[in-house]
Amino acid sequence: MNATLFSNVNVFDGSGAARFPGEVLVRNEHIVAVARGDERLPRDGAELLDGKGATLMPGMVEAHAHLTWPSSVERVIDSMKLPPEEHLLVTAQNARITLDHGFTSAYSAGSLGERFEPALRDMIDAGHLPGPRLRASALEKGAEGVMGVPAGHDPTHDRSIDGLRRYVADMKALGCDTIKFLMSSDEGFAPGGSQVLMYSEEEAQAIGEAARETGIWLACHAQASEAVKRAVRAGFRAIFHCTYADTEALDMLEAKRDELFVAPAPGLLYARCHEAQAFGIGTAEAEKMGAVSGLELMQQVIPQMRKRGIRVLPGGDYGFPYNPIGRNARDLDLFVRLFGFSPAEALAAATGQGGVLMDLPVGVIRAGHFADILLVDGDPTADVTVLQGKSNLAAIMKGGRFHKRPAVTLH
Ligand SMILES: [Zn+2]
Repeated sequence: MNATLFSNVNVFDGSGAARFPGEVLVRNEHIVAVARGDERLPRDGAELLDGKGATLMPGMVEAHAHLTWPSSVERVIDSMKLPPEEHLLVTAQNARITLDHGFTSAYSAGSLGERFEPALRDMIDAGHLPGPRLRASALEKGAEGVMGVPAGHDPTHDRSIDGLRRYVADMKALGCDTIKFLMSSDEGFAPGGSQVLMYSEEEAQAIGEAARETGIWLACHAQASEAVKRAVRAGFRAIFHCTYADTEALDMLEAKRDELFVAPAPGLLYARCHEAQAFGIGTAEAEKMGAVSGLELMQQVIPQMRKRGIRVLPGGDYGFPYNPIGRNARDLDLFVRLFGFSPAEALAAATGQGGVLMDLPVGVIRAGHFADILLVDGDPTADVTVLQGKSNLAAIMKGGRFHKRPAVTLH
């Protein structure tokens, strides 16, 4: 039996409530007890770890992950397209980097390799490779020529209704947990692209029906308001961006707020607006790519979603040279600064609500949940930027095992 007792910690439990001083006992894969205040948990047989007042919180959930997008904080890669062997290895490296930065779960928003993610998920779950728990996706489908997936030239993507249904079933058979469709195109692909719808109402409905019959989740890139509405009507579970959502789209999202999740992914737009000069993207280029207007719109739309109780989760679109994997925790700061979330709300979205997105007992510090735990030097409920410093993560535990051991333990 493997047991760890975290003592002298301030617990943020993932609900959004204030931290409390306490102890947390982990046995094998799970949290088995949480104590508050002066209550002491049994020490017998457990490795004792004095947190010295650090924050103990759930591992974070990246709600819109692209582990196959190549660039990371450890390695800038200019192309999205790599030879498949190298690409798969880079993807595995990115999984480890994601975990190194405090994300113990990742919900995929589309892959660049058809079977990469189911294979990677299974290798991680079996303990052969370090990485977050992964909800694995199929390729991103829908836009002509996007991300190396030219729909018209892709034999697996027959656009007939029967072809779409077959595709959904095929992705389930490949072991994917979710399928990503581009319900709209994007300004980043072509000026005006955001308003170009990629699937008709009939096609979206057929995809939705097939997914329900097959038992697989649907996710989509949706910029135009009508793309959001089509996705909601068709039963999509994760809807990304929603930049141009109008009041009717917001009403529809709110009506299904217990069934769906939104991950706007502000990080890429923010990087294009403010941080990509060294990569040849100045203000004029950022404007041309729609990043400036997109970010302004998001700053109007996302605060409304927050007020309506729609689950808006941090993360997304890390993997570009100027928005590399490993920086994902920056999204929490953008939620606070741009969208009006309190630090505790942003944290709860990245943990407790992220656990609901994963549909796994994670994201909460509670007996019976998986012991996916971060020990943080500092108080992220006061300042979420502490999560951006890898060195502030004193310990990273996933499923009761340390991915990163704390420097000092007591026995
Ligand atoms: Zn994305």
